Amino acid sequence: MKAFLNFAGIKLLYEKSDEWKFGLRRVGTLVAAKNERQAQKLGFLKRAGELNGLKGLEILDAKGVKVIEPAVEGVQAALYSPEGGVIDIMEYIARLKAHASMEGAVLAAGREVTSISVSEEFPSVSLSTGERLKSRYIVNSAGLHSDDVAAMVGSIYTVYPCVGEYAYVTDPQSSLVRGMIYPVVDEGYPGLGVHLTRTFDGQLQVGPTSVYGEGKDQVKWRRTPLNAFVEAVRTFLPEVDSDDVHEGWHGVRVKTVGPGSGRSFGDFVMEWDTHGFPVIHLVGIESPGFTSSLAIGSYVASMIRKKDDENR
Ligand SMILES: Cc1cc2nc3c(=O)[nH]c(=O)nc-3n(C[C@H](O)[C@H](O)[C@H](O)COP(=O)(O)OP(=O)(O)OC[C@H]3O[C@@H](n4cnc5c(N)ncnc54)[C@H](O)[C@@H]3O)c2cc1C
Repeated sequence: MKAFLNFAGIKLLYEKSDEWKFGLRRVGTLVAAKNERQAQKLGFLKRAGELNGLKGLEILDAKGVKVIEPAVEGVQAALYSPEGGVIDIMEYIARLKAHASMEGAVLAAGREVTSISVSEEFPSVSLSTGERLKSRYIVNSAGLHSDDVAAMVGSIYTVYPCVGEYAYVTDPQSSLVRGMIYPVVDEGYPGLGVHLTRTFDGQLQVGPTSVYGEGKDQVKWRRTPLNAFVEAVRTFLPEVDSDDVHEGWHGVRVKTVGPGSGRSFGDFVMEWDTHGFPVIHLVGIESPGFTSSLAIGSYVASMIRKKDDENR
């Protein structure tokens, strides 16, 4: 489900960026192998990408890598995807909100859902402001709190918070990277690895880390020392100094596989409530949930249309 929606989501984002006029640039992605053991995994990654519909994947030798990313050092081989892109996130979200409003959506941002009632003809949510909103269906897309919202109708999901921290490389060193450079990570690592991204606004972002948290309260989570980011950058860009790297933002992933499971990722869970209530639960929408967002929206809309047809 995740691979399918990611692929469909990328296609939709490129289409909509023209139609809705938000910033999206194809910059290309490299998955860079630093040694023979890592290089041997590239063929498998290429086949997996192709099976999921990605076009134009290529395995590059060290010389080929230099053509794409001239400043990068010490890479033996890399898997290159020309489709990788960076987006103007704020512009995209602003367009989504504007289009939702135009289609008649009522946006109630900053108000917490405290309970759900499914006992009347139409289900309703009660908000922290005391308001109650009724609808034909409820879609629980509460991210890290999707398990708490599901519990409001008696449905049990387990999610594992996993912190991702970033750092930034300052100018002029930020221009050493043109696109995105990922490391090859070991099986079971709970993320894609600390990678380098030249963001839409030209910053060089390093991260995210993947550290399972003890709870959902972000304040308690330990911080990765800045030096770990410096080391991650220097594996590809040895000329970067520790003074060139400074702390960035951090966020919390919602994973459905926990520490010690031996698995890196679970699939997206997108399903009707098992009690038969008119509620859809979206759980474990971790990365690439953002890239997949338009495809996730269409998939949920198709679930609702199907239910409407069944109820007719
Ligand atoms: C560090 C990090 C890096 C990432 N990088 C990428 C990336 O490069 N590419 C990519 O595609 N994805 C990435 N992701 C994943 C992406 O951010 C998520 O997949 C996406 O945000 C999921 O969207 P969502 O709407 O399901 O959940 P969220 O974005 O978490 O939104 C859930 C919303 O529900 C609200 N909420 C929670 N409880 C309640 C309640 N009781 N009442 C009302 N509202 C509530 C929350 O406040 C929040 O606004 C990254 C995530 C992290 C943490």
